[in-house]
This record gives sequence, structure tokens and C-alpha cells, in this order.
Amino acid sequence: MGQLSLKNVIKTFGQFEVVKGVSLDVNEGEFIVFVGPSGCGKSTLLRMIAGLEHTTGGDIVIDGKRVNDLPPVKRGIAMVFQSYALYPHMTVFENIAFPLRVEKAPESVIREKVEAAAKILHLDSRLKQKPGMLSGGQRQRVAIGRAIVREPEIFLFDEPLSNLDAALRADMRIELTRLHKQLGATMIYVTHDQVEAMTMADRIVVLNAGYIAQVGAPLELYHKPQNTFVAGFIGNPRMNFLPVTCTGLNEGGVEVVYEGQKLTVPVAARSGLAGERLMLGIRPEHITLGAGEVTLDIAPTVVEQLGQQTIGYAALPGLEANFCVVLPGDQALEADIPVTVGFRADDCHLFDGEGQALERHITLASQSPLPAA
Ligand code: ATP
Repeated sequence: MGQLSLKNVIKTFGQFEVVKGVSLDVNEGEFIVFVGPSGCGKSTLLRMIAGLEHTTGGDIVIDGKRVNDLPPVKRGIAMVFQSYALYPHMTVFENIAFPLRVEKAPESVIREKVEAAAKILHLDSRLKQKPGMLSGGQRQRVAIGRAIVREPEIFLFDEPLSNLDAALRADMRIELTRLHKQLGATMIYVTHDQVEAMTMADRIVVLNAGYIAQVGAPLELYHKPQNTFVAGFIGNPRMNFLPVTCTGLNEGGVEVVYEGQKLTVPVAARSGLAGERLMLGIRPEHITLGAGEVTLDIAPTVVEQLGQQTIGYAALPGLEANFCVVLPGDQALEADIPVTVGFRADDCHLFDGEGQALERHITLASQSPLPAA
């Protein structure tokens, strides 16, 4: 139980179509994260699944049953919002118990379920307190407790950690991952924070302007983005894109030239590419000091020293955005001091004129067998 299918789901507000035919199958027990830029339709999609927003077109199916016309309480879901939506005058116990009181559950059942949820969420010692006495993270855990006692088939989270500071967010990410393992329930989680997406998701759904740009496991999206949108969205700092010209194909992949330097990118070749303008993608963390298969002389205009890494930004011919380099540790990179950097063809991505990726010849670590002990 907890299987969800979206079939060509559409949402319009007046003339404005914000969700443009989304189809997706979510397996029982999966942790799915919706990410995408502000306004791409993540929350609207989640609210349609919850039944808080009317669905203009398509079907929402939970455990084989079309639920478009069912009210939220009949869908077997529970939703946790960014604003914890707690009742300030009620104790933690009563806040968690609230949905059970609405259902008129017996007192003994309420006590048992609230205490069990509080234990899972490490709130046992807080049950008599009011929300005002709790930290942001604890309040969000109360809101999650209120969802747990309903024993939903599917949990829906709408940016639940956005109000927390960075340290608390990191703690709560770990808590939520643990909770997912413990409950084994299906979870759908909306965020614009890609660290949350990468660390918590079984699969990430990247949305762009109401469409799904790609669905996949976190490392699949990182290593094999299917288009420039996903390539630019997943990864921080974002991937560098260099305009190149295709000079031909060989058995190793596709030959391109950037500023007079030739390289063969190991991607699936297809006819008709020779002479085409393509986009070469290289992640900042795949650039090293010194010459490489492609070598660039850059003069960073800004250098950020973070201790665990050094980030440099420089202007390059043909690039509107800054070219970004991420080097491990603290490196002798200084603003306005020229430096030579390079990268390998194996680390490159290649996109056609439509922004679609040519498939890379790589095996993901998660797909290769573990070496024998
Ligand atoms: P964010 O990360 O900023 O919350 P989002 O991806 O969750 O963004 P949605 O809240 O789903 O985006 O909104 C998608 C689009 O739908 C936006 O352009 C928004 O202005 C519009 N929209 C959302 N709700 C309504 C509404 N009730 N009436 C009209 N337009 C709406």
C-alpha cells in the first residue's frame, strides 16, 4: 500500500497552465523528492495529490483507486507544511492527538498512538509543553507526529525544513531519513534545496515550468543529466557550459573543438552532428590545477576560500556566466592572478542544439558490482 500514479495531471489557474501533463509512478515505500526552481509547480502538484487543490485534468490514483474526487481525509495521506500549523494553546500531546480527536478515537488508542509517535520523534519528554516552549526543529517534529498518528499510506511534505537554520536542517534531514526507514511509508517531499533532494531521495523528480525534466536516482541525475536544465540545476556550484563545434565522430565518441583545442567526448554518437554547435558541460569540481586534456588559462575575478574547498570564478570567451572552478582544500588561488587549469574528456557532458544530452559512456558506481573482498 502507498502506491501512487499520476497520469497526465494538469492544473490551470484561469488561463495559466502551471502543471502541464505530469505522469509519474511512485512505488510503495519510496522516498520521492520534487525539486525545481521557484514557480515550477512543485507545491501545486503536491497539493493536488493531497486533495487541497482541484485537478484540472488527468488522474491521480492511490493504491489503484482514482482519488480526484475524494476529499483529503479520504485519500490515506497526511501532509506536513513549512509553517508547522500547530495550535499554540494546546500541549504537544494534544497537538499530536488532534486528528485522532477529530476521528473520535477512544482515549486509550489516542494515548497509545501519541506516545508511540513521540517516542519515534524523541518528543517523549515534551508532551506536556506548549509549542511556544519548543525550538523550530522540535515544532516541526510535533507536526510530523500529527501526521504519523494518522498512519497514512503516503506522507506529503511541503518544504518542511525551510524555516530552520542550517545546522538544524542537517539534523532534521538525518531524522527524516531515519523516520522513512523506520516507518517504511511512501514519502513525497517538495524542496528547492538540492542537498535535501540528493541526500534523502530514492528518486528525484526535477520539474521545470510545469513539466518533468527528468526522474532518477540522485547520482543518476548528477552523472547522467538528460538535458542542460537538469545538468545546471543539480550540482552546486552549477555545471559550466562551453560552446563547442563538432568536428566529427570516432569510435571513442564525439569530437569537438573549444577555442582551438580538440577532444573526444565519450558519449553516444549520432549522425548529423558534424559541423553542429554543441554545448560541452564540465562540473567545477572536475577541474584541476595545471594542464589537462583541455587546458585553460584563467584569471579568477573572485575567489572564495571555504576551508574544505576553494572556489574561483573567471570570465572566459564565449561564456555569459562565470566559469567556475572548485578545488579541494585551501589552494593558492588568488583573485586577478592568472592560473592554468584543465579537465579530462571523461568528465565532460555533451548537449545538442536543443539542450538534450548525448548519453555518456559511464557506469554509475551504484550499477557496478562490488569488488571481491
Ligand atoms: P516555490 O518553490 O516558490 O514555492 P513552486 O514550484 O512550489 O514554487 P507553485 O507554488 O506550485 O510553485 O506555483 C506554480 C505557479 O502557479 C506559480 O506561478 C504560482 O504563481 C501559480 N499559482 C499557485 N497558486 C495559485 C493560485 N491559487 N492562483 C493563481 N496562481 C497560482
